[in-house]
Amino acid sequence: MTRGDDLRANEKAVELVPASDAALRFIGWVRTPWRSRDDCPRQGRLDGPECRLVLDVVWHDALCGLEDYQTIEVLYWLDKSRRDLVLQSPKSDGRTVGTFALRSPVRPNPIGTSIVKLERIEEGTLFVRGLDCLDGTPLVDIKPDRCAFTPKAPPKPGEAHVQEN
Ligand code: SAM
Repeated sequence: MTRGDDLRANEKAVELVPASDAALRFIGWVRTPWRSRDDCPRQGRLDGPECRLVLDVVWHDALCGLEDYQTIEVLYWLDKSRRDLVLQSPKSDGRTVGTFALRSPVRPNPIGTSIVKLERIEEGTLFVRGLDCLDGTPLVDIKPDRCAFTPKAPPKPGEAHVQEN
């Protein structure tokens, strides 16, 4: 369910108290060719159209070193989504499943994530391929692809566990 207040067969919405906890700080905006949700791909493709991540100027220095990565993870706020469905009936397959069993944009905290191909960075703007969101979607975070960070071996018995970031 992604449109208006209508529910599809078997869908279930819940009454929510106003959110009053963690506040996000958007770091910029996503610029894509898509103006309506129907036009967006359901998932981005690395050979999709070039899109831009336009960062607020205060975050430009935070990009230092990111140019070393060919793929990066982008987190964005799917701001046009309703947030109160616990059961959803996606239009594609007619079954009803729980929100957490879907990658639907409709979720209590509508965070979208995509692994994208980083083409280049120019003055605080990242040119990427692999997105699936509307033009103007708020940008939450950018990280190097996790594959570049291999897990360390777990500590052996008796060894101190040192947590590193
Ligand atoms: N790749 C992300 C993920 O897996 O977390 C998002 C997947 S979600 C299925 C992508 C869909 O969200 C698009 O096809 C579009 O229908 C919808 N969408 C895109 N931008 C949105 C926005 N700003 N607000 C609400 N819905 C959006």
